[in-house]
Amino acid sequence: MDPQAQFCPNRACTARGQIGQGNIGVHSQQDRRYICRTCGQTFSESKGTAYYRVKKGETFTLAVKLLAHGCPAQAIVAAFEVDERTVADWLRRAGTHCQQAHEQLIGRSHLDLGQVQADEIKVHTQCGTVWAASAIMVSTRLWLGGIVSVQRDLKLIQALVALVVCVALCRPLVWAVDGLSSYVTAVRAAFRRPLPTGHRGRPRLVAWPDIALIQVVKRRTGGVLSVERRIVQGCPQAVAALLHRTQGTSTINTAYIERLNATFRQCLACLARRSRALLRAPDTLQPALYLVGSVYNFCTFHDSLRLLLLVGRSGRRRWVHRTPALAAGLTDHRWSVEELLAFKVPPPPFVLPKRRGRPPKRVLTEVEA
Ligand SMILES: [Zn+2]
Repeated sequence: MDPQAQFCPNRACTARGQIGQGNIGVHSQQDRRYICRTCGQTFSESKGTAYYRVKKGETFTLAVKLLAHGCPAQAIVAAFEVDERTVADWLRRAGTHCQQAHEQLIGRSHLDLGQVQADEIKVHTQCGTVWAASAIMVSTRLWLGGIVSVQRDLKLIQALVALVVCVALCRPLVWAVDGLSSYVTAVRAAFRRPLPTGHRGRPRLVAWPDIALIQVVKRRTGGVLSVERRIVQGCPQAVAALLHRTQGTSTINTAYIERLNATFRQCLACLARRSRALLRAPDTLQPALYLVGSVYNFCTFHDSLRLLLLVGRSGRRRWVHRTPALAAGLTDHRWSVEELLAFKVPPPPFVLPKRRGRPPKRVLTEVEA
């Protein structure tokens, strides 16, 4: 047990989420519990991980690995002799944890995205159809997050664009999307920042420079597929240069997000086309997406991201494999699924509440009086 690597998870504690401050000690070796000396609360070693209060830890890990690689829940019920509701709970637990880890590790990073591709997929559930929208950073193949909604409308796209804005550095960026007009509205509204004037009142919002938007519209008429590629916003030369930098060619396409959607359909039994393993509750879809997305980002080598190294004087060729998170510089190694599930999500840092109203009267000292 290493108290130096732990932080206090108590939301009411002023030292919450801080590592290496010397406020954490070992409370019980046998029960594997720590104590925070600032707030006096004890907490379990697994608090803040997906393993917290899970009895069958090893079976849980195996089941989550299988779920994230396309195994239907019914197969896990039969193989491990556990209840169907337990498997559904494990999926929701692991997915919720992965979403929190994603928000902590990717949602707070600042990346020069270059090119982002976004798309929506239609998902059939037992309660009707829902839509899942995702976005990918093309140069590193990093999945930037997903949103689930009953309607394929402006709200869904605004929520997706908001996820990407949090990650994006103010650098040239091109969005490659389908023909849905909501992207134009959402991107124009989100990629703005306030211009400080020094006066009171809400400052004017100014659009980020060099934000381009391109559309790939596919139409099928009489069995013939026609593809229309158009630049909705941005200068053609800048778009071509950005596309060349991020994907090696200057062809306008949405192939990367379409390939990622195919991975999601393969890795999540309920997303397979013409499947009978439909989701029972649509609210399970978001955690399931984050489970598959996080395993894809942190635990899976991507063939197109590998680098060729020449080793030694003989110039022996050696391939260095990389995960999308590794390529984006968010980590320095490939994570195991256990490592992902055991990642401790820290609570937000404590901030002193703002003092409102008139400041308290100062009591005069004897000398001043
Ligand atoms: Zn504490």
